[in-house]
Amino acid sequence: MTVGGQFVIDSGPKIRQNENVPELKLNSPLQYVKGVGPRKAEVLASHGLSAVGDLLYYFPRHYLDRTNVVPIGQLKVDQTATIVGEVKAHGILYGKGRRYEVILGDDTGNIILLWFGGVKYWERMFKKGQKFAATGTVGYFQGLQIVHPDMERLDDCSDQMVHAGRIIPVYPQTSELSKVGLGSKGMRQITSFIFEHLTERIGDHLPATVRREHDLADLHEAIAKTHYPDNRDQIEQCRRRLAFDELLGLQYRVFRNKGKKEATTKKHSYDPPGQRLRGFRKALPFELTVDQKATTKEILEDLQGQHPMSRLLHGDVGCGKTVVAVLAALCAAENQLQTAFMAPTEILAEQHFRNWQPRLAEVGVETALLTASLTAAQRKKVGERCGSGEIDIVFGTHALIYDYVSFERLGLVIIDEQHRFGVEQRGKLYAKGEDPDLLVMTATPIPRTLTLTLYGDLDISTIKTMPPGRKPVKTYWRSSDIQDQLFTYLREEVKKGGQGYVIYPLIEKSDQVELENVEDAFAELSQGSLKDVRLAMVHGRIKPKERDAILTRFREGEIDLLLATTVIEVGIDNPEATLLVIEHAERFGLAQLHQLRGRVGRGGKQATVIAVAHTPLSEIARQRLEYFVSQTDGFQIAEADLQLRGPGEIFGVRQSGLPELRTANLWRDRDLLEAGRKLLEELFADRDRLDNQHRALYKYLRASAEDRRVYLGGG
Ligand code: ADP
Ligand code: MG
Repeated sequence: MTVGGQFVIDSGPKIRQNENVPELKLNSPLQYVKGVGPRKAEVLASHGLSAVGDLLYYFPRHYLDRTNVVPIGQLKVDQTATIVGEVKAHGILYGKGRRYEVILGDDTGNIILLWFGGVKYWERMFKKGQKFAATGTVGYFQGLQIVHPDMERLDDCSDQMVHAGRIIPVYPQTSELSKVGLGSKGMRQITSFIFEHLTERIGDHLPATVRREHDLADLHEAIAKTHYPDNRDQIEQCRRRLAFDELLGLQYRVFRNKGKKEATTKKHSYDPPGQRLRGFRKALPFELTVDQKATTKEILEDLQGQHPMSRLLHGDVGCGKTVVAVLAALCAAENQLQTAFMAPTEILAEQHFRNWQPRLAEVGVETALLTASLTAAQRKKVGERCGSGEIDIVFGTHALIYDYVSFERLGLVIIDEQHRFGVEQRGKLYAKGEDPDLLVMTATPIPRTLTLTLYGDLDISTIKTMPPGRKPVKTYWRSSDIQDQLFTYLREEVKKGGQGYVIYPLIEKSDQVELENVEDAFAELSQGSLKDVRLAMVHGRIKPKERDAILTRFREGEIDLLLATTVIEVGIDNPEATLLVIEHAERFGLAQLHQLRGRVGRGGKQATVIAVAHTPLSEIARQRLEYFVSQTDGFQIAEADLQLRGPGEIFGVRQSGLPELRTANLWRDRDLLEAGRKLLEELFADRDRLDNQHRALYKYLRASAEDRRVYLGGG
C-alpha cells in the first residue's frame, strides 16, 4: 500500500486466526492479551488503559535504534547516540553535590554516565555486568560522559532485536507499571501480541482527500508503525499524521467555542461610558499609552455589543494591562453590573486590590478582596455582599470559584494571567453569571503563529508599547563559578541604594534533584557573604500574613534583597527594584525567564538581570540563555520559546500556558496547524453540504472533544 506517496508499508497487521486466542478487537478488554492477568489489568486501567484500542495510543517515548548504536570508542562530543554496553562499575560520588556515576563499556572503550540526584533509585537499578542501552548527548568533562541518559536494560529478547537491526520501541514507564512487570519490555510483549492478533483495523476518520492533500499516512499504519517502525523516516512520517490529529482535535474545541459564543445573545446591556469613567481616567497618575487607549476602546465596544465578549488582552510584562481591565470593570459598575477579577496568586490579588480600591472608592465603586487567607467568617461575609449586589468589583484568587460566592448580576469576568488557570477553574467562575462578558489577560505574548489557531475563539487586543520612561533592562548570563564576584557586585549595588530579587528553583533541599534552594541560601547568605545586606525570604509556604508584611517592607525600601522562589514570577510590582539574579537559569524556559525579568525595570531606573547557569549545561539550555540575553521583545521570545523548548524542562512547559502535546510540536508542525484550521473552516462553514466522509469526521471530532473515546472499527 502506498501511503502519501512517500513510503510503502508492506506489513500491515497480520490478520491471523489462532484457535487458542480469542479474537482481538479494538474494544476487547486488555485481559484478552496473553500474560495480562487481573493485577496487570488493574494497573493498566489506572493509567487509562482498559481496551486494546487504548494501548495502541500508548506511544513509545523513544526508540532503540540499531542504526544509531555507536561503538563507545567512536563517540564524539555533542553527538546524540545510543550505546550498548556492560556496567563495569557504579556508585555514588560525593563532591559539591551528590552524583551517581556508572561506567559503561563495550569492546571499544568506556564512558561515564552521570545523574545528579535520584541517587537511591539509580543505586537499586544497576548491577555490575548487566547490559544496558543508553541514549543521550555526549559531553566532555575530564573524559567523555553522558548526563542523564535514557536507560534501557537489555534482556535477551531486546538484545537480539538490537543486533538484528530492528528499531525497538521504548515505552514510558511509571513505578506502578514496573512493579507489575510492565516496564518497557513488558509493554513490548503486550503491543507485539496485539499487533499479531488484532483482527480489526483502526478506521480512519480523515477523508482520503485530506490525507492525500497533506501527505498524511493512513491512521492504522501510522499507529502500527509508531510502535514498530521499519526505519527512522517512517517514525517521522507517522508522527506527522498523529500530530495532525492532535492539532485538529485541539483546534476543534476552539471552533466549537467560537460558534457557541456567536449563537448567544446576552441578557445584560451597557450604555456608553459615562461620567464616572471619565472622572476616573482624569484622576489617574499617568496618561494612558496609545495602545492602552486603543485596547480600552475595543473592549468597551465589545461590552456594548450583543454577544458576550470573549477577548484576550495580551502584551509584554509591565506594559500596563491592569488599568485597561479596571476601566472595563468600572464601565460594568456604571451599568450596575458586577465584575469578578481573578488573579493566580494571593500576592497579586492583594496588590490589585490595594492599588485600585482607593481610586475606585473615590468614584463611588465598592470593591472587596477574597482570598483563601481570610478567615472562614470573613470569606462568607464577602460572599454574601457579592450575592446581595453590594460589591461592584471583587478581586480575588481561585477562592472566587467556591460555592459560598454568588453574584446578583455578574456581568464581567476578568482573568489575569489566564494561562495559570485550568479550563475548569475559568469555567466555574464564568458559570456564576448568565453569559457574562469575559476578558482574559496574559503577559506571555502569544506568537502570531498561534493566535489564529489556538486562540481563534477569542478576539485579541494587543498592547505593544511600554509606558514612557522605561530603560531597557541589561541582561547577562554567567556560569555559577562566579558566585563570589556576584555577591560582591550585589553588596556594592545595595550600598548604592539598589533593590532586587534573587530567584531559586526550590524552597528546600530535595532528594530528587541537586539544585540550590531558597531556605539554605537564606541561612547561608545572611550569615556569610550578604551579612550586611537587609535580606528577606518569600516562597509559597510562608504564611500569607508574614509574606504580605515582607512584601510591604520590600516595597517601602526596608528590605534590600528578596530571596524568593518563582512565587514572585507574576505581577509583583515594585518600581524601585533594579536587580534580579536567577539561580539555575538553565532550568527555566525562555518565556518564564522573560516573565521573571519583568519584575525589574518597571520604574525609570536602569535595571540589571544576571542569569546564573549551573553546569552541566546542555546545548539547548545554552542557546536559550544566549537568546534570553540578546532579546528583550516578548513576542520574539515567545516564538523562540516554541522553537527552543527542550525536553525535560521542569518548569517551562506547564507555565507557558500552552497545551501539553503528545506528538505535535507547535513550532515544527505549524504547517499542520494551519492545514487543520483550513479543514475546520470548511467543516464549520458548510455543515449541511458535507460529503459523508467529512460529516463522519465532524461527528468524530465532536465525540472526541467530549472525551468519549471512539474507535472507528472495521476496514
Ligand atoms: P502588566 O501589563 O504586566 O500587568 P501592570 O498593569 O502591572 O503591567 O503595569 C505595570 C506598571 O506600569 C504599573 O506600576 C502601572 O502603574 C504602570 N503603568 C501602567 N500604565 C502606565 C502608563 N500609561 N504610564 C505610566 N505608567 C503606567
Ligand atoms: Mg499583570
